[in-house]
Amino acid sequence: MIMTTAAFSQDKPDPKDTEVWKPEPAIVSPGKDISHPPSDAIILFDGRNLDSWTDARGEAARWTVGNGSMTVAKGTGDVKTKQTFGDIQLHIEWRSPEKVEGDGQGRGNSGIFFCELYELQVLDSYNNRTYSNGQAGSIYKQSMPMVNASRRPGEWQTYDAVFITPKFNPDGTLNAPGHITVFHNGILIHHHTEIKGTTEYIGKPRIVAHGKGSLRLQDHGNPTSFRNIWVRELN
Ligand code: MG
Repeated sequence: MIMTTAAFSQDKPDPKDTEVWKPEPAIVSPGKDISHPPSDAIILFDGRNLDSWTDARGEAARWTVGNGSMTVAKGTGDVKTKQTFGDIQLHIEWRSPEKVEGDGQGRGNSGIFFCELYELQVLDSYNNRTYSNGQAGSIYKQSMPMVNASRRPGEWQTYDAVFITPKFNPDGTLNAPGHITVFHNGILIHHHTEIKGTTEYIGKPRIVAHGKGSLRLQDHGNPTSFRNIWVRELN
């Protein structure tokens, strides 16, 4: 068969064929710098009060607020957000105690639990060796950070994370594992790292079906401080 010129022109690809116009991505104004929340952020702590938080039992959070930050009050327990979240982008700043005390897991230990189940470790890992999958930036007892991006104790540090929750079938079995990407002080330390299950101090991660959950900060007995905490829901 002889192809006509017309047949060729009909088959000629049009660049418009691959243009996608709908939906149009929403406009989000960036903050002044990485630490300033964008316009659609949910502010969880702006330095003034713990109104967005409770203690682990759902009663008033008793951590110390002052100088624009909140600090673990030893023995008062973890604090968690009143609001629950699924997939989120998180920005959080934290500071290990300037006065260095203890070593290993006992130095500046706290943590950020997504859905109250999966811990992104907070630890003073500046000249403080511990097991790699338990140092700052680890997904505790699951995945070590790519690098140690820690600043000195007493200096403010940042985590910027994208957390995608595990998805479950109606019968409670795992449909798709969760994943996390984390920048520590602007440096990539996890890229789409698989969440293997719940954070366990002893034993293997477990698969536990759940829906949205609070963000929880750990009282590990060290006076670690936090400030400028905000999330963006990713749905
Ligand atoms: Mg911890």
